[in-house]
Amino acid sequence: MVEVYTGRFAPSPTGLLHAGSLVAALASWLDARAHGGQWLVRIEDVDTPRCVPGADLAILQQLADCGLVPDGLVMWQSQRNTAYQNALDTLIQKDWAYPCGCSRKDIETAIESAQAQSVARHHAAVYPGTCRHGLNSKPARAWRLDVRAVQTALGLPALTHWSDRRLGPQKQNVCEAVGDYVLRRADGLWAYQLAVVVDDAAQGISHVVRGQDLAGNTARQIVLQRALA
Ligand code: GLU
Repeated sequence: MVEVYTGRFAPSPTGLLHAGSLVAALASWLDARAHGGQWLVRIEDVDTPRCVPGADLAILQQLADCGLVPDGLVMWQSQRNTAYQNALDTLIQKDWAYPCGCSRKDIETAIESAQAQSVARHHAAVYPGTCRHGLNSKPARAWRLDVRAVQTALGLPALTHWSDRRLGPQKQNVCEAVGDYVLRRADGLWAYQLAVVVDDAAQGISHVVRGQDLAGNTARQIVLQRALA
């Protein structure tokens, strides 16, 4: 069976596109065209405090000015609450998501006492799983994916492998690299990881061409894709 190529560009409307994001837009468009596929656009406006009013339309205009016109309706993540809630409910029903009452400080303290060393600045703390088996009477703040539960139930290896056409074969142990990651944030907003995976599936995305700075998210998104498949 020949796979239908569907690519996408998924900017966060935190301002106008700059040279780097335009390169990502153009690269994803060119790859879709080179494969005779279609190219879609999704406005990733879930992180509302970071969104700039009007930036979404300005970005679409910038793309159009460069001749980059999507082959289907533009999707806005701010309108996708029900889809994200359904995905989270599915994960909760399977016991693959759990509420977490930890603040950032709680997580750092737990890691420091386990390792007797400071968490390096600019290095995302690996969540130590404090709330995996209960909140210990703390109020729920965020929802997290129980990565090991998903991997065990689905028979997935601890090491997630994928192939990146530019970077070559890639792998990451999600439990060791990030731990149980956030699906719904403590401030009630949907996490990037959940929204991307739900929407890539809804838009039928077959190929992702994006900035290399996002490569470190791929394994998390693959695990979540498998959990929601
Ligand atoms: N919205 C994300 C960003 O602008 C990109 C998401 C993606 O391509 O997966 O950084």
